Amino acid sequence: MSNCSRRNFLKNSVLLGAAGMIGCSSTSSDSNNTNSSVEVKDNSAPTALEPPNTLAGKKVPTAVLGKTGVTVPILVHGGGYELNTVMVARALELGINYFDVADCYLGGQSEVVLGKTLQKLGNRKDVFIVSKYHPKNPADMIEGINGRLNSLQTDYLDAYYLHQLGDGEYPKDCANWLKSKEWKEVGERLKKEKKIKFFGFSCHAANLPEALEAAAEGGFIDLVMFRYNFRSVNSDALNRAIDKAKKANIGLVAMKTQGGRVSFQAKADGFKEKGFNQAQSTLKAVWSDGRIDTICSNMPSLQIVQENAMAALENQISEVERKLLDEYARETNHLVCHGCDNICSPHVSTPVKIGDTLRYLMYHDNYQDPIMAKSLYSKMSVDARNAILATDYRQAELACPHNLNISKMMADAAKKLA
Ligand code: SF4
Repeated sequence: MSNCSRRNFLKNSVLLGAAGMIGCSSTSSDSNNTNSSVEVKDNSAPTALEPPNTLAGKKVPTAVLGKTGVTVPILVHGGGYELNTVMVARALELGINYFDVADCYLGGQSEVVLGKTLQKLGNRKDVFIVSKYHPKNPADMIEGINGRLNSLQTDYLDAYYLHQLGDGEYPKDCANWLKSKEWKEVGERLKKEKKIKFFGFSCHAANLPEALEAAAEGGFIDLVMFRYNFRSVNSDALNRAIDKAKKANIGLVAMKTQGGRVSFQAKADGFKEKGFNQAQSTLKAVWSDGRIDTICSNMPSLQIVQENAMAALENQISEVERKLLDEYARETNHLVCHGCDNICSPHVSTPVKIGDTLRYLMYHDNYQDPIMAKSLYSKMSVDARNAILATDYRQAELACPHNLNISKMMADAAKKLA
């Protein structure tokens, strides 16, 4: 199956789930991504995944991460939990040698714990480390690198990201940073000083399509980590931007691939009956796209690492899983915020941040990480928090293409995250 047809396979599957949604028609654009080096298996017949003990001696397939030229596993470790010695050692056995941390994960401890672990294992040179920072300006980004290196006890980062570009703390026009002379010079300077090898950004905000396009035009961004899952494939703007970034040979790393982890047991059980689980199928939906080089996944237990590794070994989605994901998307799209608050925000007259607030609610409810959710919520402006209960969301709800009960969800967020 060609990459192009694999992408259509995914696209068409979600189209079924998205049928009838206002303003969310599927893309008609096509990708020309024959450079993708993900090892692809013909998975036309559904295959039950092997139990964990048959992973012995097997490694996760690899792909070249865009213009970096670095070969990485198609499944990499997110750092939203402690990457301790046992976890890291098992990951390395499976070929997962790429770890993604940040200044703010685990209250700043994700870098520290990974740094100590790699010191103990003595294999810094064998791993690819990404860390991230929320800079206010280019000088701040340069300053921030020293904190990252100190916490990780290393001399260099393999990649350094502008973190969560487009979130509330950034200026509205921050996507333009990605094609500006100042930010280009930041990347070049840090590379020249050998503090970083590659420069990128992460993004899950509504400006993601704009940011990807700016990065493609700017030419100095090496890799991007962005929100992408079976729910987001039906966005014309996002798919055009991904095509453009791919054409510019930017390394593409998908995150938040579970699409909100909404519990819907009746549907989740259907996956298990077929010999795999819902999480594995959502990963395979992203790999099947053909444009994504790797998936960054938070894997908080050895069991999840192994299940995800098994999915990576059978990385193309089957017909059965495709149908189950269609049903799952249809039944749950209205329960999870898709981060497109450029659509709903113009319809409220107060400084509330709908996309940010509902993402923090997702961290609390679906990711079961109330500490991170509350910490992020507490950093929102007082005005944005105070306005939550005083805002009339009726027009925003009419505009929401996914029919979210925004009023109820925002009230729920205010109660749980305060
Ligand atoms: S509430 Fe609806 S329109 Fe607003 S960000 Fe969420 S999914 Fe998008």
